[in-house]
Amino acid sequence: SPLPIVATLLHYATTEPLRPCVVVENHVITYRDLAAASAGWATRYRDLGIARGDRVALALPNSPAFLAAYFGAQLAGAAVVLVNPQYRHAELSHLLADAEPLIVVATDENEAILREAMTAPHPHLIKPDASLCGASPVDPTAFSPPAADDMALIAYTSGTTGRAKGAIHTHASLAANCDAVIRAWRWTEADRLLLMLPLFHVHGLGVGVHGTIRSGASLELHARFDAELALQRMADPAITLFFGVPTMYVRLIEAARQHGVPRHRMRLFVSGSAPLSPQTFADFADLFGQPILERYGMTETGMNLTNPYEGERRPGSVGMPFPGQEARIVDRTTRQPLPAGEVGEIQVRGPHLFRGYWRNPSATAAAFTEDGWFNTGDVGFVDTDGYVHITGRSRELIISGGYNIYPREVEEVLAQHPAVAECAVYGQPDPDLGEVPVADVVIRSGIHTTAQELIDHCRQQLAAYKRPRQIRFVTALPRNAMGKVQRHLLGIDPPVAEE
Ligand code: ATP
Ligand code: MG
Repeated sequence: SPLPIVATLLHYATTEPLRPCVVVENHVITYRDLAAASAGWATRYRDLGIARGDRVALALPNSPAFLAAYFGAQLAGAAVVLVNPQYRHAELSHLLADAEPLIVVATDENEAILREAMTAPHPHLIKPDASLCGASPVDPTAFSPPAADDMALIAYTSGTTGRAKGAIHTHASLAANCDAVIRAWRWTEADRLLLMLPLFHVHGLGVGVHGTIRSGASLELHARFDAELALQRMADPAITLFFGVPTMYVRLIEAARQHGVPRHRMRLFVSGSAPLSPQTFADFADLFGQPILERYGMTETGMNLTNPYEGERRPGSVGMPFPGQEARIVDRTTRQPLPAGEVGEIQVRGPHLFRGYWRNPSATAAAFTEDGWFNTGDVGFVDTDGYVHITGRSRELIISGGYNIYPREVEEVLAQHPAVAECAVYGQPDPDLGEVPVADVVIRSGIHTTAQELIDHCRQQLAAYKRPRQIRFVTALPRNAMGKVQRHLLGIDPPVAEE
């Protein structure tokens, strides 16, 4: 099996110690710096009694300390549990009780709230020291890297459809993931990634950080996404890659319309974590002169499907399997593979898959087939050229008078209307039809429209049963840290008055 990613870090720290690894606020952290700080963290964990298989929970904001505390835990043989530092009592108590970490790494800001959420047996709570990477350096060659099949990471799903579940990744599954990504996207040591995604999610960590270290490249780390700052930083000729979620691309387009597109040497823009609307794809290509590469991944699997690096990137599609992986569409009832064009559940298979849900054998058993296919819960079809299109999630399906409506299809039509900045479509109970589609809409500032106009717009482009029966104008959609619409929260806040 492939070498753990932390072993790659140690390798470069020895062979090319001065190579830049992370740039943060004009500080360059070399491969040697990061490996030595990671060994410093590993020493702290070992002193507290960490052994192979124990969990270390990281509740840190994006920072060099996050990265060193992360690789340090793996160097000490532990599995890392990622904790969104914005989480509050309800989320934290579920996560800490479920993962049972021996150590929690926190900051001054979230220390008190974490202590409140801790239950017996109480973990140790430690904080980064004042050094740039949060621990004083130690010779990393004193540590031997973990075994490929050891647990490396427990990543909790976003909780979009229910309670967050811990997905167990080994060093081998994480390495298989980033090795496939590097091949597909031609990632080399000459690349520098502008990273504004949170590190507590697989998008930022599993793709952004792992891919960087594995290819001996570098990344510029920011605390959070900021569209104007992103545009400014893209003007730096060293920056070549940007990964974002669709809402970031919507904001980049808005900012570029206001401030102009900088001259840049960007090689690749990637979108994932949620559907990228064909409208956003087209607007971005017009402005930046490049088609966004859309890919599809999950906490449980890392990266599954990608549009081609060379060749056509098809709007509204997530492309084909990464090298070394498989994907297929199966009938949702019979579980038999379906031919091109037919809609069913997406299944994936390969060395990148997680090893199961943490302490949840029934969820694990339900997730896999006997021959190793993972049931993604996402629904879609393959077109005749082999591109996969996601139509929605099984659980989001609206059934209205016996007809199936995928919210995404209606959302894409609404998004084409010039007054619509963002929208989300969902089902509401209806005495007659069971459910009817309703749309929450955020209006682009300065453009006037009415609910009737938007309904008419949908009626022109869709079968009558798919048109929203009600349009609710809202100031914002409920989104989580990854920019995903939290569907269980839709329709709760009262709408704002129609203009
Ligand atoms: P939970 O599993 O807890 O309900 P979640 O599925 O949102 O939350 P993640 O693992 O962060 O948690 O997200 C994976 C999901 O995101 C996929 O199953 C898919 O529905 C969606 N997704 C990711 N990339 C894309 C994409 N390019 N297009 C459409 N959907 C995507
Ligand atoms: Mg999920």
